[in-house]
Amino acid sequence: MYKISKFNHIKPWGDKHYIAYNARSGALGLMDEQNYQTCRSVFDKIQNGNKAEFNPEEAHLVKQLEYGRFIHYDYYDEVEELKFQHHLARFDQTSLGLSIAPTLACNMDCGYCYEGNKKGRMQPEIVEAVLDYIETRAPALRSLDINWYGGEPLLAIDIIEDLTESMLDLAQEFNFNFNATMITNGYLLTEENCDRLAEDFKIGNVQITLDGPSEIHNRKRPLKNGRESFDTILKNALYASEKMQVNIRVNIDKSFTVETIQKLLDELSEAGLKNRAGLYFGRIEAATSACSNISESCYGAEDFSTVETDFYRLLLDNDFSITHLPQPMATVCFSQIISSHLLDPEGFIYKCYNYVGDIPKAMGNIKEDINYSHPNFTRLFKFDAFDDEKCRDCSVLPICMGGCPARRADFDLKSGEACETWKHNLGPMLDIIARSRQSQAQKAAKETT
Ligand code: SF4
Ligand code: SF4
Repeated sequence: MYKISKFNHIKPWGDKHYIAYNARSGALGLMDEQNYQTCRSVFDKIQNGNKAEFNPEEAHLVKQLEYGRFIHYDYYDEVEELKFQHHLARFDQTSLGLSIAPTLACNMDCGYCYEGNKKGRMQPEIVEAVLDYIETRAPALRSLDINWYGGEPLLAIDIIEDLTESMLDLAQEFNFNFNATMITNGYLLTEENCDRLAEDFKIGNVQITLDGPSEIHNRKRPLKNGRESFDTILKNALYASEKMQVNIRVNIDKSFTVETIQKLLDELSEAGLKNRAGLYFGRIEAATSACSNISESCYGAEDFSTVETDFYRLLLDNDFSITHLPQPMATVCFSQIISSHLLDPEGFIYKCYNYVGDIPKAMGNIKEDINYSHPNFTRLFKFDAFDDEKCRDCSVLPICMGGCPARRADFDLKSGEACETWKHNLGPMLDIIARSRQSQAQKAAKETT
């Protein structure tokens, strides 16, 4: 006996096809008219109480629908299963995630930066405390996942080196996996640094931020010494893309138009970066008092979802592959995970990037025992999408998980007010993703003939 998944999104695609997507499994497929009619007939039989037998064609499709979780056995509760996975991830102690800022100093001077104008480097006693903490956890670990961020982490590459060496020793001694990523503005990602990152620091993925095409980026993200950074960043990103996965985040505010993005795509193509790096659009938000001066120019989630769709359509029209996909996740972010922390250079522990450096919002210090009763921990951790009736019933719950807990808490958002962009633009984005995949498949087929 089967049930139809509540996470299905099936819609017409062009004249003759249909897109079928399931938000729980992430499965995405295209159906022709005949397949679609068979699918409809399977769904009708299920909805009519599973009384009628499936014919051979339907029985064949049932296997595929089951595999993609578009249908499931009726004794299985997919929301309860999702909730179970969510809570497993929340309380998992076998992996440790640390986002570490070895410095909050930066070589750039961006007006909207949530870290304000901070300085300071991680001192040896904090480096020791971080390693002591990892060592106490090491016997039970299967993986250690490090994300270097800042400020600009490459300004403290010596500290990253020290920490990484010791972490790799621990990984070997206690036999756990070590994974590392970095968020950088890309200016100091020189060939030499890049080689060290890839080979010595085992960094497999970097995120580089751009504020638009050269003219806008250089204006909004000047170096502290007033010089321009755009060309150097692109040159560095190109070299880095030979060594590791590079994702470029483009910060978007209300000043961006389709023409602005077109200019950026032209410049990325000219620099040889087309399809060498993932490209996605990030919404600038006035998240803290340090950047409240820019709130007027920031998009809300719903408005942003419209321009985001337009920009991804432009990527597609320019033959850029689309790497921004609606992927199921166990939790929205590490604020919901007890074994994942954000550390500033002084060792203070935070549960959200928005709070870094704002010590009253820390939940303790890595030099002390972690206090899971601290109000700055429970404030975000207590949010549970499964307690929100709208989220429990929502067809995009697995790819949203209730939205950002800090936004909910800081702005006292009610049920239905924290929806992420997928809630608003999943349909058109599926259309764009399917067209991108089709074009890549056609290109691959051409290359093999
Ligand atoms: S609470 Fe929100 S802003 Fe903070 S890390 Fe999580 S998703 Fe990001
Ligand atoms: S926040 Fe909105 S989009 Fe996200 S799961 Fe809840 S109801 Fe759905």
